[in-house]
Amino acid sequence: MPNFDLTLSDIFQAHKRIQPIITHTPVLESGAAGKIAGTQVYLKLENAQQTTSFKIRGAANKLLSLSDAERSKGVITTSSGNHGKAVAYVASRLGIRAVVGLGLHVPANKVRSIQGYGAEALVTGENWEETSEQVEKVRKERGLTYIDPFDDPQIIAGQGTLALEALQRYPQIDTIVTPLSGGGLAGGIALAAKSINPRIRVIGVSQQDGAAMYLSIRAGRVVDVTETPSLADALLGGIGQNNRYTFEICRALLDETVLVSEDEIAQAMAFMLEEHHQVVEGAGAVGVAALLNRRATFGSHTLVVVSGGSVDIALLMKIMQKHLSGEQS
Ligand SMILES: *Cc1c(COP(=O)(O)O)cnc(C)c1O
Repeated sequence: MPNFDLTLSDIFQAHKRIQPIITHTPVLESGAAGKIAGTQVYLKLENAQQTTSFKIRGAANKLLSLSDAERSKGVITTSSGNHGKAVAYVASRLGIRAVVGLGLHVPANKVRSIQGYGAEALVTGENWEETSEQVEKVRKERGLTYIDPFDDPQIIAGQGTLALEALQRYPQIDTIVTPLSGGGLAGGIALAAKSINPRIRVIGVSQQDGAAMYLSIRAGRVVDVTETPSLADALLGGIGQNNRYTFEICRALLDETVLVSEDEIAQAMAFMLEEHHQVVEGAGAVGVAALLNRRATFGSHTLVVVSGGSVDIALLMKIMQKHLSGEQS
């Protein structure tokens, strides 16, 4: 195992630290998916996590690791999605002030959701760059600590705790399939799993268009991507030209990275609702999509990370309607 400033012991410590905040999410065995993919399938249901995604694991580990001085000043981040919700939730649980920077075009319901978790919404900027500039300005003015969504050892260690839970219960797991965007999730899981058993294969799954980590690994350097709308909206975005941790970790430890199409993501969301009565967002369903379409090489016991459930219900209903009418014809 190369040295990444991060060890299995950090991940165990993170798991201990975040116990008061997180839920040990259930693992569901899926005979239906297993039959299609030719492997025993275990679904780790982070859609059932507090704030409906695994992001709370990293956020909790990071915020609980801050010094007293940092805690008393507060934290700031930029995210209208699961990371913003997780930081807001954990901060309010710990009595830490949190500011979440959101672009001017973020829908009002998302702004209210962040505020509902007790954070201050800083609504500013026509685009990502402008929002980031304002966030940096406010961070400096108020002496806040910036909480990165993925490229931070404490965040990576927090996300890796999910693998500890699954492997303690199911030590026979030989393959892990996980969604892949910035690589905090896949990186933490790969570090944990391969430290415990180097023979475990870890497969990262991204959306077809603008898959920054997938393309960067192939290019051997960080590449910028243009964002195309996707059902897996939580996977959009770059990995940062000054990426310090996740690119090297994912490049070294992921055995395979694969892509799935929008139709395959929709099919996987429908499968999760119809077969397992689970509400799963697009990003959370990409691992299941890879499985149902046999996109990678699976062993005999495959853990699939179902990373989140923040999906607009009207959108999910549309997907279901299309899926069910397709079955009839
Ligand atoms: C953030 C997120 C991911 C991707 O995690 P990274 O650490 O950025 O790779 C996957 N699924 C969901 C639901 C997310 O919110």
